[in-house]
Amino acid sequence: MNTLMLGRPTRPESQPSPTTENASSLTGGKGLLQAEPLIFERDDYAGTGVDLPEPESAIGEDLAGLLRTAPIGLPGLSEPETVRHYVRLSQANHAIDLAIYPLGSCTMKHNPRLNEKMARLPGFADLHPLQPTSTTQGALALIDRLAHWLKTLTGLPAVAMTPKAGAHGELCGILTIRAAHQARGDVSRDTVLVPSSAHGTNPATAAFVGYKVVEIAQTVDGRVDLADLAAKLGPHVAAIMVTNPNTCGLFERDILEIARLTHAAGAFFYCDGANFNAIVGKVRPGDLGVDAMHINLHKTFSTPHGGGGPGAGPVVLSAALAPFAPIPYVTHGETGFQVVEAAEQAFGRMSAFHGQMGMFVRAYAYMLSHGADGLRQVAEDAVLNANYVKARLAGALTQPFPEGPCMHEALFDDRWLEGSGLSTLDIAKAMIDEGFHPMTMYFPLVVHGAMLIEPTETESRAEIDRFCDMTLALAEAVKRGETERFQAAPQLAPRKRLDETRAARSPKLVFPVEDAQRRGAT
Ligand SMILES: *Cc1c(COP(=O)(O)O)cnc(C)c1O
Repeated sequence: MNTLMLGRPTRPESQPSPTTENASSLTGGKGLLQAEPLIFERDDYAGTGVDLPEPESAIGEDLAGLLRTAPIGLPGLSEPETVRHYVRLSQANHAIDLAIYPLGSCTMKHNPRLNEKMARLPGFADLHPLQPTSTTQGALALIDRLAHWLKTLTGLPAVAMTPKAGAHGELCGILTIRAAHQARGDVSRDTVLVPSSAHGTNPATAAFVGYKVVEIAQTVDGRVDLADLAAKLGPHVAAIMVTNPNTCGLFERDILEIARLTHAAGAFFYCDGANFNAIVGKVRPGDLGVDAMHINLHKTFSTPHGGGGPGAGPVVLSAALAPFAPIPYVTHGETGFQVVEAAEQAFGRMSAFHGQMGMFVRAYAYMLSHGADGLRQVAEDAVLNANYVKARLAGALTQPFPEGPCMHEALFDDRWLEGSGLSTLDIAKAMIDEGFHPMTMYFPLVVHGAMLIEPTETESRAEIDRFCDMTLALAEAVKRGETERFQAAPQLAPRKRLDETRAARSPKLVFPVEDAQRRGAT
C-alpha cells in the first residue's frame, strides 16, 4: 500500500491542539475523559484497521492520468480507536439520552427504543426507493397508514409526505398556496403576513418563495393583534403564517377569527404546526380553519432530530390546496399501492423520492404504541409538565405573560436579572456547569432575554424537579451576587465560551485549516 500517496503531513508541533487550550489538568483531559484531536486531525493512514492487498498493476496505471496528487486527508484508525473517539466525542456534548433537553420550540422528547427497532427491520431499512412497487407494498402501506392518521389527527383531507423537515414543509405549503392562487389567475398577491413572534423559518420561507414579508403585531398578552391583522390583510396578501400554540407557548385564543379574516381577504391560512405536540388528540387544526400545516414528526411524534437524526415535515392540506400538492405521492389502486409520479396541477417536487422512510416508521410506531387516548395524553402531559415548570419557577424568575396557564412550554424573560450585571447567556452557561443543558435562549425575539423551557411529556416529575431545583439554586446565587460564577461559566465543560457569532459568520468547514489553505481552498 502506498501510504505516502494517502497519508497527510502531521500537525506541526508548534500548533496548539484546540482540545487542550482550556486545560485545567496537565494534559487537557478531565474527569475520565481524555483530550484528543478531532478525527480530521488524526493522520497516520497506515494505522487503519483495514488491510488491502497490493494492487497488481502499478498504482494509477488505469486511471487515465487522474491519479491523486495530494494527500486524501483521511485519518487511519483501528476499530477500538474509532469507537473510543466517537464515544468520547459524544460525552463532550449533550444528547437526549443523557438528560432532560429543555429546548423550547424544539421538543426534545425521548425517542422510544421500540421505534428504533421497527425502523431497523430489514423490510424497511434495506429498501431502495427505485425498487419496483410490487416489492415495496408493505412500506407504501405504512406511508399510506401514517398519512391517514396525520389527516385524521388534523382534520384535513390531504397530506404531502415528502418534505424532509419543518422548514422544508413550510416551503412546500407556501409553494402549494402560490400554485393555488396562480391556478385561479390570482397572480397579484405578493405578501405573506407573519406575527412578530414567529420562528425565523416562517419569514425566511415566504421570502425564499419571493413574497414580501409583513409583520403582524402582538398584543400585550402575547397573541396575534387582531386589529393589526385586519388592517394588513387585503387583496395583495397570499397567506398568513401563524404558529399555534404560538412560540410564546400560548394558544391563539382568537384563532377562529384569525382564520375568518384571512379567508375573507381571499388569503390562505398557513399554520406552523411545530407545536402540534401541545394539542395533538385535543384539537384538529382543520376545525380551526387552517389550510396548510407542516407537522414535525421529529417533534410531536418523537423521531430523533438535531444531532440525532434527520426529521420529517409532512404538510396537511385543505381540499382547496390538495390538487396542487407535490409529487410523488402514494395512492391505492386495483393492483395495490402505487407511487404517483405525475399529476397535472402538482406544483413540482420537494424531494426525489417518497420522503424520510425511517422517520415514517418511527412516527407510525409511536402513534400505534400510544393509541388515540395515549396521543391525547401526550398533549395533556406536555402541557401539565410545562405548567409545573412555570409554577415552580414563577417566584424566582420573571414572566412576560404571567396570566393564565401556558401550553407546552414556559416562557421567562430577563427582568429578574436587572441590576445583577448578568444576562440570559450567563445563566445558560452556568446551567452547563451544573450538568444541565440550558433552555432555548433569546427566542422568541419579542421577549427580552427570553428563556423558553419545554420539558415535554417524557420527563418524569423527579427529572423536572431536578431541573427546577438547579434553576432556583442559580437564581439564589444571582441574588447573593455571585457574578463571577456566572461570567466564568462554563468552567467544567470541554469548551468554555465560544465566539458563536464568529463561528456562524465565518465557519471553517474544512479540516485541518492549514491543509485547506495549502490547497488554495477557502
Ligand atoms: C422547529 C420549528 C420549525 C422548523 O422545523 P425544522 O424541522 O427544524 O426545519 C419551525 N417553526 C417552529 C415554531 C419550530 O419550533
